[in-house]
Parts: sequence; structure tokens; C-alpha cells
Amino acid sequence: MTGLPSIAPQSHRSDARTAAESILRRQASRESAARTYARSLPIVPVRARGMTIEGADGRRYLDCLAGAGTLALGHNHPVALEAIRAVLDSEAPLHVLDLTTPVKEAFTTALFETLPPELAERGRIQFCGPTGTDAVEAAVKLVRTATGRGGLLAFSGAYHGMTAGALAVSGDTAARACAGEADARVTRLPYPYQYRCPFGVGGDRGAELSAHWTANLLDDPNGGLQPPAGMIVEPVQGEGGVIPAPDEWLRTMRRITDERGIPLIVDEVQTGVGRTGAFWAVQHSGIVPDVMVLSKAIGGSLPLAVIVYREELDVWQPGAHAGTFRGNQLAMAAGTATLRFVRENQLDQRAATLGARMLSRLRGLAAHHPCIGEARGRGLMIGVEIVDPDAERDDYGALPAAPRIAAAVQREALRRGLIVEPGGRHGSVVRLLPPLTITEEQAEAVLDRLADAIAAAERTVHPSLPE
Ligand code: PMP
Repeated sequence: MTGLPSIAPQSHRSDARTAAESILRRQASRESAARTYARSLPIVPVRARGMTIEGADGRRYLDCLAGAGTLALGHNHPVALEAIRAVLDSEAPLHVLDLTTPVKEAFTTALFETLPPELAERGRIQFCGPTGTDAVEAAVKLVRTATGRGGLLAFSGAYHGMTAGALAVSGDTAARACAGEADARVTRLPYPYQYRCPFGVGGDRGAELSAHWTANLLDDPNGGLQPPAGMIVEPVQGEGGVIPAPDEWLRTMRRITDERGIPLIVDEVQTGVGRTGAFWAVQHSGIVPDVMVLSKAIGGSLPLAVIVYREELDVWQPGAHAGTFRGNQLAMAAGTATLRFVRENQLDQRAATLGARMLSRLRGLAAHHPCIGEARGRGLMIGVEIVDPDAERDDYGALPAAPRIAAAVQREALRRGLIVEPGGRHGSVVRLLPPLTITEEQAEAVLDRLADAIAAAERTVHPSLPE
């Protein structure tokens, strides 16, 4: 398949379009109001390969959402399919609770080969319920058990999942309110965010002030903190708007937590498996967390979530963190194949190089499009913050978020055969999370379509702008 819209005869295309529209309509009337991507991406995927998805209407799309960053190798990569077929053909049991199997042993070995040596040599793995949020719950529970303390340190803008405990350490106030009582034991700290610096200074100075704020609060006997069981942080905030933490800041967080005996939990659910240009994003700064939360790409497109942590924290009683679906053999096999493929083909390096090239073209684009506040990212985790070009800049030079323009960019991109998803504060950051296997031609096509979509979205705000 190529990335181009297919050229089926006109009559076939309109039949297919009508069929797709009726599927969408029926499903919209039966699914909950919480439907997410299905609202803004009204397509009906029926086939997919690499970064191309084909809809039931016969149209083809370049997928820059890739399962919200899950598909390191894109859709239906041959090595993942082969691994899944091998398990099916072997007649191995597909459901084994958390029993030991050769498939699980192979996955554990492949994963440990990728970890920072300190964790690989003296680490433990806990297989969690199937999705990222389950692993976050496990991490939080682990550090609370190990330290006997209840408090948690988390960051503004964080996203850790949708179950109650994970929401409590996330930043989305509206979603947290719906989940019940906000957890008063969570202390929110400022995450360094260059474009909208919480201290109004940006750059290295903003990150320094964030670290200073944190250390000062921890050492203030009247600071009002619940003694913290741990700090949880994303090395690049993904859902929060693709905000990479400076390496030096992460090293300072490691030092601050080390010096005070606070376990550091790094959530690599989205940043892991080569996405940011290193196999694990912590490798950029060289820090070794006490707990790593892993999911998405580690399952080779199937659900799998684990935590890996220092053995000193392993004070759990047998059965302390159980769950029925913690032994997905197909996901482990696809995950093993994916981890190996990324490593052997140095796709993390590829993500670094291609990502830097894409980012530099996007920054060039920003010069011609006043609605681009900032283009930023790390590796193939890229965000374009869309702002209102007609509004007044704040005292620190930032323009307000423009969620309506961002939504228009998404719509216009889809019309041009490109799937992107806005995220971040106010849903105003257009995110690119292509598979690490994206070719240079595909990267060019993505940027061409996105550039056109941005221009078209701008014209919806300023109809007088030239075509
Ligand atoms: N942590 C991070 C950093 C994430 O990006 C996500 C999902 N986007 C989660 C946790 C939650 O994972 P899941 O949606 O699989 O529960």
C-alpha cells in the first residue's frame, strides 16, 4: 500500500463511502458519550500496513497517531505478525494468568536487555493489568507499600491514565473531578514548559526555578506536604502537549529525590522503545529511576503493561497485586519481536535523525504561519502548539491557545489523508507520533499535508488569506 488515496472507480467509491457512513452513524448512536478518537476521526479502518490505514470508504491515510504512540513498527509489521502466528501455531495456552511460560521468559529477557544496566542487573518486573494506567496504579501502590508513606509528588500537565489513582497524579482537573474526590495526598509541582513557563522566564532558568521550588517545598517543615512515597514524572509530557523535560532538570529531580530517600517513578508508557531517539527516554539524561512504568510499544501493538523496579522496593506480599489479564502471551511474543527489531535496527537512532529533520522543517513552517506558537519535540514525538495569532501576547510573549484552529488543522489533515491528534493544554497542540519505521518519503508527505492543512485552517479564521 502507498500513502495515496486509492483510485477506485467512482461508483464503487460512493458505495463504500455510504457503507462507511452508516457504520459510523450506527456506532455513534450506541457507544458512550465518552467516545474519544472516534469523534474527531470519523473513519472506519479496515486494513492497515506500516503507517498506512485504509478506511471502509476506500481512502488511505498516513497514520501519525499510531495507536497514541503504541505502534513503534507501524501496523501489522511482519515480525510482530510472525511472532503472533508462531504462538498460535504452537498451541500454547493463550490464557495462563501469571504463570511462567517460555513466551514470558523470552519477553522478560528481551526487555531486560534494553534496560539501564543498574535496573537490568538488580531489577524486578511486575506484570500488571493490560494497559498503561494499570501499571501506573501498580507503581503508586508499590512505593506506598515500600515506604509506608502516602503522599505523592506529581507535575502540572502530567498524564498517567484514566483509573482513579492514575488520574489523581495527572493534571486534567475536569477528568479528576469526575473520578471522585481528588487525592489530597498528591502535591502538584511545576513542570518546565518553555513556551508557557510557570515562572514567566522560560529556558534553563525556568527549569532551575522549578527544581528550586520543588527542593524548597520538600525541605519546608511548614510546606504542608504529605510525606511523599514517590515522585512520578514523564521525561517528555505526551498528552500534556509534547513537552520535553530538559536533561539537566531530570538529573536534578533524580538528585533531589535521592537525597531525600524518595523513590522516583518514571512513566515511559509513551516515550519508551525508541520513540524519543533513545531506547528509553531516561537514557538522554542518564538517570536511573527507582521504578519504570512501561506499556504501549512493549506489546508490539497488543495490550501489555509492566513496571520494572529496584529490588529493594520489592516488599510486596505474594498476591499483593493480582489481576486476571496479566499473561497475554500474544502481546508478549509480539513485544519480544518488537523490542528486538527496534534494537537490532537501531530505530531509536533513526527516530532521532528523522525527528530532528521533521522538527527543523516544522520550525521553518512556523516562520510563515503565525498560528504556530512553537514546534517542539524529541525524536519522533513532535508537537505543534497552535495559538491565536490575533490575540494579545501575554507579558512573557506567549499567545493564547487556539483549540478551534487546532481542531480545524486535524479536520483539514484528515481530508488530505493524514491522521493527527490534538492534545495538550486546551487541546491546542497538534501531535505527530508516527511509527519509527516511517520512510523519508512518508515524512515528507506528512509534512506537506500538514503544511497544507495548517494553511487551510488559517483560512477558516482569516477567509481573506490567499489560497
Ligand atoms: N502514561 C502515559 C505517559 C501515557 O501517555 C498514557 C496514555 N496515553 C498512560 C500512562 C495511560 O496508558 P493507557 O491509556 O494504556 O491506560
